[in-house]
Amino acid sequence: MLKFEPQEIFIEQDCQSMPMVSRLIAALPHVPLRIVDPGREEVTFPVPPGTDFQTAKKRLYVAKHKGEFLKKCPGSDGQICCNYFVINFASNCPMDCSYCYLQEYLAHNPALKVFANVDDLLAEAGELLYKHRRYFFRIGTGEITDSLILDPYIGFTREVVPFFAEQPNALLELKTKSNCVDDLLRVDPKERVVVSWSMNPQRVIDAEEHGTASLLERLQAAHLCQDAGYRLGFHFDPMIEYPDWERDYEALVEQLFATVDWRRISWLSMGVLRNTPGLKRAMRERRPRTRLLAAEQVPNPDGKLRYFQPLRIEMYRKMLRWIRRNAPTVKIYLCMESKHVWEQVFGYAPSCEKELGAQLDPHV
Ligand code: SF4
Repeated sequence: MLKFEPQEIFIEQDCQSMPMVSRLIAALPHVPLRIVDPGREEVTFPVPPGTDFQTAKKRLYVAKHKGEFLKKCPGSDGQICCNYFVINFASNCPMDCSYCYLQEYLAHNPALKVFANVDDLLAEAGELLYKHRRYFFRIGTGEITDSLILDPYIGFTREVVPFFAEQPNALLELKTKSNCVDDLLRVDPKERVVVSWSMNPQRVIDAEEHGTASLLERLQAAHLCQDAGYRLGFHFDPMIEYPDWERDYEALVEQLFATVDWRRISWLSMGVLRNTPGLKRAMRERRPRTRLLAAEQVPNPDGKLRYFQPLRIEMYRKMLRWIRRNAPTVKIYLCMESKHVWEQVFGYAPSCEKELGAQLDPHV
């Protein structure tokens, strides 16, 4: 299993008695640990000003989350959105993909942080789901972190999976580039939890997805989860264009469907490399040699840079053909793409985000 160990752990003093903290201390007894009082003026935790992003990823800060945990996914202006909710149980990620948008998004708040008050999170989610029983919710935990990379130490899924397994109107998605699934295999998700992987050819993983699980490790973990009763999801995102990309992505699709049963896949998504001028600046500083910086991209109405539209359409159409050859009716959507691109790829576009959200409800 992929191993990440923080170099230091900081625990806010009012989190000391929480179950997550006991698990963390038991799993990492050799890692230096400090109890901190965030209310004290002179304390400059989680990271002192000026700490670089790389250093911040190595120090784990355990805090109590004070606001709301559940938020509607912000999506992207002018793009079709998939009506998704996010639970931010942690912030930042110890893996280090060259294209990771957190380099820009968390530039001024880069601490690797987990929130220990999971009971508050579950109470909030329970209230929302109970109040709106007629609606179906897709909820994810991997928006500003990876859903599973810290799980061997914090045991987050031990608390959330049994809770979501009992919810009649929600599906929890755990999105990852790791293979940290050991704890998941001990719990029955009762068809209510989707474990999903971001997928790229091994060549892209080697070049751009530093510290993540290999393609084979991701596939093996997916196979284990499927056998344990989990639904699966796969995100071909970000798809990268390079000479020979077709050969690699077609082989990736074949390898995927040779490993898992497509009938138990809840959804697949596709999206191409997205950038912003700010993210490019961060990449230039942190990963000056990445070839992604040389990609030809154009600005879109949502302020993001993407490949030219005809190239995107061609990439999606080819992927769709390879996927459909193996999985004729699997649900597929585009991530952060315009109505026009949807129409060119699928021949239709969902009229609104609710329609797309409903299409992804596995019970429909
Ligand atoms: S795994 Fe995801 S969150 Fe972590 S560095 Fe890569 S893109 Fe960012």
